[in-house]
Amino acid sequence: MLRRSIDARHGHPQYRLEMAIYTDPDTPESPLHSPPVPKHRPARKTSDQPVIIVGAGPAGLFAALRLLEYGLRPLILERGKDVSARKYDIAKLSREHIVHPDSNWCFGEGGAGAFSDGKLYTRSNKRGNITAILQQLVAHGANPDILIDAHAHIGTDKLPAIIANIRKTIEAHGGEYRFNTCVTDLIVKKNTVHGVIDRHGAAHEGSAVILAAGHSARELYELFDRRGWLLEAKPFAMGVRVEHPQDLINEIQYGRRYAESLRLAACCRRNHAAADADPAIRSLLPPATYNLAVQTGERGVFSFCMCPGGIMVPATTERDSVVVNGMSNSQRNSPYANAGIVVQVTEADCCAFAAHGALAGLRLQQQAERAMYAAAHHSQAAPAQRLLDFVNGKPSARLGTTSYLAGVVAAPLHERLPTFIVVRLQQAFRLFDKKMRGYVSDSAMVVAIESRTSSPVRIPRNPATLQHLQLARLYPCGEGAGYAGGITSSAIDGIRCADALGGVLKKIVN
Ligand SMILES: Cc1cc2nc3c(=O)[nH]c(=O)nc-3n(C[C@H](O)[C@H](O)[C@H](O)COP(=O)(O)OP(=O)(O)OC[C@H]3O[C@@H](n4cnc5c(N)ncnc54)[C@H](O)[C@@H]3O)c2cc1C
Repeated sequence: MLRRSIDARHGHPQYRLEMAIYTDPDTPESPLHSPPVPKHRPARKTSDQPVIIVGAGPAGLFAALRLLEYGLRPLILERGKDVSARKYDIAKLSREHIVHPDSNWCFGEGGAGAFSDGKLYTRSNKRGNITAILQQLVAHGANPDILIDAHAHIGTDKLPAIIANIRKTIEAHGGEYRFNTCVTDLIVKKNTVHGVIDRHGAAHEGSAVILAAGHSARELYELFDRRGWLLEAKPFAMGVRVEHPQDLINEIQYGRRYAESLRLAACCRRNHAAADADPAIRSLLPPATYNLAVQTGERGVFSFCMCPGGIMVPATTERDSVVVNGMSNSQRNSPYANAGIVVQVTEADCCAFAAHGALAGLRLQQQAERAMYAAAHHSQAAPAQRLLDFVNGKPSARLGTTSYLAGVVAAPLHERLPTFIVVRLQQAFRLFDKKMRGYVSDSAMVVAIESRTSSPVRIPRNPATLQHLQLARLYPCGEGAGYAGGITSSAIDGIRCADALGGVLKKIVN
């Protein structure tokens, strides 16, 4: 089997399989059974100095793995903790509303990808070799199914072990990690970067720096702004996360017959007639997903990071802000389906912050996140409203249940969110309901704010050398630099930066 996908159009779900059929007795083994194992070389000392990588997210880790193939020695500086220690801070954030500014859903080993949904599909197919990334993940413990699934997914419960295995590979081949090391400045001499300085004033020198700090490393954007190093504002998106009962999405996507079978199975279970009927039917099809996009006026409104059978999580990195996101376990077995529904944000929307130059979008993002913290009575609970009420512009008297880990607080989001977002979301939800009948349901909830979909800032680089336009030997990389969005495209960008750098350093050494 080469590829597996589900076509759920018209309420008649079908599996589509792409197979290679052999009549020869020497049938090659399926990639599922023998995924190729990537080869790494021990790091050669091409120079006395390592290549510094700021950030152990997907971009930084895949850059490090690739540098090893060039025989170069990566030194990874990560502000957060290792992936196991990070779990305790994440639990504290969800349960006690205590935000650790260096260890949370975005910061720490594995970056924002570590406790994510682990969806691996990307639209940036042309930018790099996705199969090579999937093979690396399989070599480090991911289920080989990701090599053939059209919508490959790993799951939060599986990702930390894979990230820890990647660390073992990097260290075994000469790379090094320094956790609890927050980079606050660059060492620059004659417009060339020679290393970085951490929060405690320690210098870390390197032959080059890959800056892969993600889109929540706001202090680094402030640093560039202060020092007058080039930064650009870029379009991004903000909105809300919408959560439905998963069975409702299943019914809309897979059709009434599927829903009726499930109801019948539930009835059998209640009457002890066939206790395993419900799981048996559910095992035929995975929890249904959706992908929606409409134009309202000149503006796109689209679903983002849809998590079937998932839960919603508090994804802020700052104590005075509320940010929501979604993830799921490998089994995708929660009774909820959530998705970000976001509106494109343009320069015109940020005009109140024009004096902040390239940081105008960042300021808008911060203001909206702080407004949600205020709406949640200064807690990490998320302000929420029933979807039907949001669309009709009326407060919700009572909220339904949600999966949101830190709890929700009723708030009139149609009044609290920026007007340009509310108006477009209301129009978009009505249009979504035409595409997916029943989408605007009283059982669906809206929680806010989904603001960290992508970076509002770009750190510009030369398209040929991938070095910063002003600062030689600095490689802005991944989502935080504005060149990727999501796990796979960030990993691809990490590899591209390592390739660019590998070529340059080889030339210098030769
Ligand atoms: C809950 C959640 C679910 C998600 N689900 C998916 C999904 O299913 N599929 C998908 O494709 N994407 C998903 N994403 C997005 C995805 O995780 C990111 O797009 C991706 O991780 C970006 O990779 P990156 O390496 O560029 O940056 P990041 O993953 O953000 O990594 C940056 C790293 O840099 C570190 N860092 C920051 N500042 C400093 C500093 N000053 N000094 C040292 N270190 C620093 C951070 O601690 C972090 O480890 C999800 C995100 C979240 C939060």
